[in-house]
Amino acid sequence: MRSLILSDIHANLTALEAVLADAGSYDRVLCLGDVVGYGPDPDACIERIRDLPNLSCIKGNHDAAILGEIDVRAFNYEARASLVWLENALHPENRAWLGSLPESLTIENFTLAHGSPRSPIWEYVMDVATAWANFSAFETPFCLVGHTHLPGVYQQDESSPNSVYLQLIEPDRPFWVNQKAIINPGSVGQPRDHDPRAAYLIHDDADDRWDFRRVAYDVSQVQERIRAAGLPERHAQRLEGGW
Ligand code: ZN
Repeated sequence: MRSLILSDIHANLTALEAVLADAGSYDRVLCLGDVVGYGPDPDACIERIRDLPNLSCIKGNHDAAILGEIDVRAFNYEARASLVWLENALHPENRAWLGSLPESLTIENFTLAHGSPRSPIWEYVMDVATAWANFSAFETPFCLVGHTHLPGVYQQDESSPNSVYLQLIEPDRPFWVNQKAIINPGSVGQPRDHDPRAAYLIHDDADDRWDFRRVAYDVSQVQERIRAAGLPERHAQRLEGGW
């Protein structure tokens, strides 16, 4: 079983199409939320994602905000401006689809949570202390999270089960994870690790191999659509530098 693992697409259809074209064959798709927010293509991204074969998708904080489940005042100015824009842009059927998504899911060896397993919508796993505090909140070998837009693997230390370390991952270098771990594939549509290429993961359970991949896409096309839509200029600029 080959799983394509995607997170934080953020209404960036060009990045999503580049990832789908690059991914090769896969048996299922695990999507970790924030399909919308920031970007100019919310309807197109939802329609593309929801038609993928064997999809499991959870809700992110931007998805929850547009459903009225989170107060938009909890977001910074630019993120809020996009949510106001999205309010008018999003087709009611696609809003309903977002509303049907669960906050977390368990599928075989994977727990899926946008932020963290103990607080799926809001908590950022950005350091080993937060990761450590979350290890008791899932039972499966792997917990897949997004939200930070930063790829990486938090693993329990084999020799000292009470400590956790962060393993950075590199494109095109397969890796194996033998301990319980929280794994973040990075972001498809708005990477923040200063690499502007779209990020995603493939897991193959035949040999438990993980492949972290980056794929370049035409950022200028997306910037044009952001500007044409009147979305904040900052969203256009950050795509270029991956911040
Ligand atoms: Zn996000």
